[in-house]
Amino acid sequence: AQRIVVKIGTSTLTHSNGKLNLQAIDQLCYSLSGLVNDGKEIVLVSSGAIGVGLGQLGIKERPSSIPEQQALAAIGQTQLMTVYQQRFSVYGQKIGQILLTHDVMDYPKSRENVLNTFENLLKLNVIPIVNENDTVAVDELDHHTKFGDNDQLSAIVTTLIDADLLVMLSDIDGFYDKNPRKFEDAKLIQTVNTITDETFMKASGTGTKFGTGGMTTKLRAAQKMLTENKAMILANGENPSVIFEILNGKQVGTLFV
Ligand code: ADP
Repeated sequence: AQRIVVKIGTSTLTHSNGKLNLQAIDQLCYSLSGLVNDGKEIVLVSSGAIGVGLGQLGIKERPSSIPEQQALAAIGQTQLMTVYQQRFSVYGQKIGQILLTHDVMDYPKSRENVLNTFENLLKLNVIPIVNENDTVAVDELDHHTKFGDNDQLSAIVTTLIDADLLVMLSDIDGFYDKNPRKFEDAKLIQTVNTITDETFMKASGTGTKFGTGGMTTKLRAAQKMLTENKAMILANGENPSVIFEILNGKQVGTLFV
């Protein structure tokens, strides 16, 4: 079986007003369930807990204080999982929740426990849905650390479970030679084989209002994948069924290989 990790960002899961994009979520659930039916092993790394928490409390801006973000994440996470549960069940797909911290790899015992959980869920044809445990760790919340919006976490998970491919779904068609939101003449790069300082120069600033990572953290994730001899595809998650095209070998987005 092919083992694939799919990471979906806040910008894809939520509308610009912070409300959940239920169409996108439904299409994601439909697509991933279809892949499991085809015999693939799928892990979903989903952001969006804070965005959903904001929407639930009717708050417009993401608070800057970490403790407030942690509370929002706790509120939003259950709602997010409820929506996933509902939408996946329509397609007969079972899910399990895995909340992780970045240091799982550092402690052999926790690493083993986490890996065992993944392996057994996958054996049962269940899709594990992963997010950072924001109560315990705030790596993804702190804008000033090198982490962002689960991009690193998805690379860590891909390595841990020895998946073949990391599919990163974002709000942009792929990686461009400069930020396409700022430069109209930006060109999509189809394949990236090495990541250097020059590559990082092409990714400027952070992303959207509700997202946190921006392109820099995606490049870091890609860099980790390349050193592990794994592939990563960055594509637009606007229509999550794009995953079918990717797995059918169509040229979509940017392939880091
Ligand atoms: P997500 O919420 O899906 O993780 P982000 O909003 O954090 O996504 O990151 C994607 C954003 O990165 C794009 O929308 C774009 O504004 C920005 N970006 C910066 N440089 C580039 C680049 N060279 N190519 C593509 N996107 C870039």
